[in-house]
Amino acid sequence: MLLPLLLLLPMCWAVEVKRPRGVSLTNHHFYDESKPFTCLDGSATIPFDQVNDDYCDCKDGSDEPGTAACPNGSFHCTNTGYKPLYIPSNRVNDGVCDCCDGTDEYNSGVICENTCKEKGRKERESLQQMAEVTREGFRLKKILIEDWKKAREEKQKKLIELQAGKKSLEDQVEMLRTVKEEAEKPEREAKEQHQKLWEEQLAAAKAQQEQELAADAFKELDDDMDGTVSVTELQTHPELDTDGDGALSEAEAQALLSGDTQTDATSFYDRVWAAIRDKYRSEALPTDLPAPSAPDLTEPKEEQPPVPSSPTEEEEEEEEEEEEEAEEEEEEEDSEEAPPPLSPPQPASPAEEDKMPPYDEQTQAFIDAAQEARNKFEEAERSLKDMEESIRNLEQEISFDFGPNGEFAYLYSQCYELTTNEYVYRLCPFKLVSQKPKLGGSPTSLGTWGSWIGPDHDKFSAMKYEQGTGCWQGPNRSTTVRLLCGKETMVTSTTEPSRCEYLMELMTPAACPEPPPEAPTEDDHDEL
Ligand code: CA
Ligand code: CA
Repeated sequence: MLLPLLLLLPMCWAVEVKRPRGVSLTNHHFYDESKPFTCLDGSATIPFDQVNDDYCDCKDGSDEPGTAACPNGSFHCTNTGYKPLYIPSNRVNDGVCDCCDGTDEYNSGVICENTCKEKGRKERESLQQMAEVTREGFRLKKILIEDWKKAREEKQKKLIELQAGKKSLEDQVEMLRTVKEEAEKPEREAKEQHQKLWEEQLAAAKAQQEQELAADAFKELDDDMDGTVSVTELQTHPELDTDGDGALSEAEAQALLSGDTQTDATSFYDRVWAAIRDKYRSEALPTDLPAPSAPDLTEPKEEQPPVPSSPTEEEEEEEEEEEEEAEEEEEEEDSEEAPPPLSPPQPASPAEEDKMPPYDEQTQAFIDAAQEARNKFEEAERSLKDMEESIRNLEQEISFDFGPNGEFAYLYSQCYELTTNEYVYRLCPFKLVSQKPKLGGSPTSLGTWGSWIGPDHDKFSAMKYEQGTGCWQGPNRSTTVRLLCGKETMVTSTTEPSRCEYLMELMTPAACPEPPPEAPTEDDHDEL
């Protein structure tokens, strides 16, 4: 029973224990002035008066704890009121105060003030402050944990609601899809019908026009007006030449008439017109283009504009063009379209003609009904997508690892900024870290959420954000966020300890540990 007491006693009476200068309390029993001194490394034993005689006898310097004689010795300052300290023995009496109690400068002429009490007081204050911060932070942390527990329950409830709602919304979407498809059927039919009618009209108009052209040509060719066009009459149109010698021979003309010697109006349209229509030039016109649908083509030819020779140039040019185009046609052999110099006279303005007339009332009514059904369907589909996204987000949040008790959950939808001289740093916990030039410019990603990376026993003390913007000729930027206990939540520092690897400190109550029961605040523990 005595032993523990004996061990305790010297601690309590530390200041009073007699020991050579520079010796710590724990070592004082090695320095017994009633015996010879054995170096602490056992290298030699010397008379006790050679301890601190300013001459180095021990290899480990242990005989000179209070002088600068041994290069490898160390001096112990008791620093009563603050923390004891070992300093290298060459700092003894070097004119600089190293110990707060000033004991290292006992013979240098320098007077060191004892600042240990003051330092001790300050340290105790800061320790108390820290303890206070920890206590308050921990109190807040418990609230955060409670808050998340409630919030999580609510989110779970909401999730269940949404999932139930999703089912009925899906049904609704399907129902509206059916309605839409039902409404689109008559719409499609009516539109197709309308389109078909219009195309038929177009085709009819075109046929009509073609017939008129053929009839006009027939009248023109039928010089003797006997109701037939003969080989001779056809030969008056040398442009119909087929072998390229510039004249239409009798044989050629007959070939054009399908071997007959003459043709009446009906078979002219049926059998001849298609073969000659593109070459045929009306005598009534200087050229075949443009051809206003003049009703008076049968008027005497003498009344033609007196410029019979002028067309030649144009004709030549056109022929060249035709040849070129013909060549092009040959290249595209698959093309089944009619040869290029398209249908000579186009009536009226083609734009007007090509435009489909507006839908009739019934068709328009079908279209409107279908459109309304489409709108409703799409709206429902959008709502469903939104709902699905909400569900995904909720599921993600609920299952997220927000610390042992969810204390970090409150950071989830927040962002915190720190502005330095050059940059604005932004941390959105569990999402991303970015850096933006203070004077404008686009942000650079310093990483997106990766994982908790604290050491095994303290996993939640650090976060890692990875795969940020690539560094020029370097790796992708990444950021480690260290979490420090504090009453408030704020980013306190950002540095780049190595290239493209950032270190950020986030202060948060969630990082506060449980404080010890009640810190012992006796001031008597001078040595501690
Ligand atoms: Ca000595
Ligand atoms: Ca000193």
